[in-house]
Amino acid sequence: MKATRKGMLLVISGPSGTGKGTLIDKLLKDDPSFVFSVSVTTRKPRDYEVQDVHYHFISDEEYDKLLAEDAFIEHATVHANRYGTLKSEVYERMEKGQNVLLDIDPQGARTVVEKEKECVSVFILPPSYKVLKERLHTRNTEDPVEIARRLGNAKGEIEQLQRYQYAVVNDSLDLAYEQLLSIVNAEKQRTNRYFPVVEEE
Ligand code: 5GP
Repeated sequence: MKATRKGMLLVISGPSGTGKGTLIDKLLKDDPSFVFSVSVTTRKPRDYEVQDVHYHFISDEEYDKLLAEDAFIEHATVHANRYGTLKSEVYERMEKGQNVLLDIDPQGARTVVEKEKECVSVFILPPSYKVLKERLHTRNTEDPVEIARRLGNAKGEIEQLQRYQYAVVNDSLDLAYEQLLSIVNAEKQRTNRYFPVVEEE
């Protein structure tokens, strides 16, 4: 039966080094119904990061201006930098039926889950704290101070797990991705997002 669909808001969180980014990139590549909500941040770009693709990298002044304009759905200070989800990245697209993916921290996820009751929330866990530590050291994107900060914050982030609907442990990437796809595909079929069109021949 023909149907129209309402866009899904998919919130994904997980400590730095869980492989969350790889899972997200794969989902966005494989499923064109998803668009990524590009956040704003006051963090400095990493070498490989592209302005307006990975983030809208902005100054503290620009961030303050967006706050004053009430441009954010949620915003938070994470690992000593400021991040925010722009309303303009989310609502219009959902109205058009697109699924929107947010990669945000547990503070931001808490706000979104409260505001958007129909959102789907997934927390990506590392197989162990030891593996998380190893991954953060080998990926080599942060300096030792930043790695220590991110590892310290990981414990607090994992304690927020119960606020999420789903947990995926990223031990094997293939298995974790399969689990993420199962969640997403089941959620797409929820009756609150799926509207059949009854046509008379
Ligand atoms: P990174 O600096 O490694 O790109 O991201 C650090 C953390 O900030 C990650 O947990 C990521 O999910 C989170 N983050 C990225 N964008 C946003 C956002 O717009 N809002 C919030 N609350 N967290 C974000």
